[in-house]
Amino acid sequence: MTDLLQIEQQPWMRGEAYYRYTCTNCGEETKDTYVEPVRTNMRNARLCYTCNHWNDFDKQLAAEHGKMTIIAGAIYTPGNKTTGQFRGMAGRRFDIEYIEPSAYAGQRTTTFDLWTGGAMPDWLQGKYADTAVFLNGAERCQVGETGCWNPSENKTEPYPLPIKLVAKATASTPTREGGEAA
Ligand SMILES: [Zn+2]
Repeated sequence: MTDLLQIEQQPWMRGEAYYRYTCTNCGEETKDTYVEPVRTNMRNARLCYTCNHWNDFDKQLAAEHGKMTIIAGAIYTPGNKTTGQFRGMAGRRFDIEYIEPSAYAGQRTTTFDLWTGGAMPDWLQGKYADTAVFLNGAERCQVGETGCWNPSENKTEPYPLPIKLVAKATASTPTREGGEAA
């Protein structure tokens, strides 16, 4: 555990106290210079912004892992829009099949509106298994620091949109170890 060290007062702080400290998860030096409620939450937990973000996401995963889309350790949100400018991945086609332990295991969907929440850190990937795979040539590739995505081929009819997915009645265990309850 590390102590909070108050940062030297700057005009933008308007008398408010801001602190620097060491993240107890990753060991990086960090500052609580973020908007509320993130600021208070991260400081109280002694986490940096990134670890705090994934720590919050851990709680969401504990509750909703079976209905989330995790492919090769990265989080996705497949939307239902098929027209319009503001679609994820520029409206390109992505075919997805859900696998165990997903509540949708065995079902396939096509989205033209795929969003990504980024790759989970290793500790979260170790805790939560993938729930889906890309089909028909879709994949994430890496160009230097930047992730990019290749869409699915258009050779076959699209599968039903994500809104047509039907969750199984029995929920799967939320964690790989099957241990922790939320
Ligand atoms: Zn951290």
